[in-house]
Amino acid sequence: MAKKVFIGVGHGGADNGAVANGLKEDNLNLAIALACRDELIRHGVKVGMSRTKDEADTLADEIKECNAFGPDYAIEIHNNAGGGDGVEIYHHYGGGKGKTLAQNILNEIVAIGQNSRGLKIKKNNQGKDWYGWIRQTSAPACLIECAFVDNKKDITIIDTAAEQKKMGIAIAKGVLKTLGIKWVAENTYTLTATASKLTKAKADVLAKELKAKGFTVTMK
Ligand SMILES: [Zn+2]
Repeated sequence: MAKKVFIGVGHGGADNGAVANGLKEDNLNLAIALACRDELIRHGVKVGMSRTKDEADTLADEIKECNAFGPDYAIEIHNNAGGGDGVEIYHHYGGGKGKTLAQNILNEIVAIGQNSRGLKIKKNNQGKDWYGWIRQTSAPACLIECAFVDNKKDITIIDTAAEQKKMGIAIAKGVLKTLGIKWVAENTYTLTATASKLTKAKADVLAKELKAKGFTVTMK
């Protein structure tokens, strides 16, 4: 049976989360989560997500959706604020599978050049996990704070679409390792097409279309 992972995407809608340096945490979380989802799906994992676009979604709803999905593991993606520097990942205070998951993800994020603030636990005043995401999800879970939105240096690890994708893939690699699934690089291909004896008008139209799709176009 296919392994199942649920990805909680922090904030959304009117709740932007941390906002600084021209970046909004809710959008960052989503871009990273979508890349993570795609990488997991590419490896045959069934993925559930709390949201796949910019929309309001409370933590209570996220936890309900996650538990209804019944995943093997649950991750929640956030970015931080408060002037720190680096990634930190929260897990259940008692350790267990969620801690292993957190450690594997941390290793992969460090491997793409992010510095680590380490694995963390946080308790509430009843001695339980402070984060509802960790306390109320049925599956082993962790909560990832990828980088500090309000730190100009730290944000350089995720301030472009390509870097957000890289972060998402790093998280996926850590999840895959925890699931016992071997990560394989995606094959890439080169495509060359030729069209000849075109009128100038037709060639111009095609060239414009192909360039818009990201092709390199030479006309002779
Ligand atoms: Zn957040």
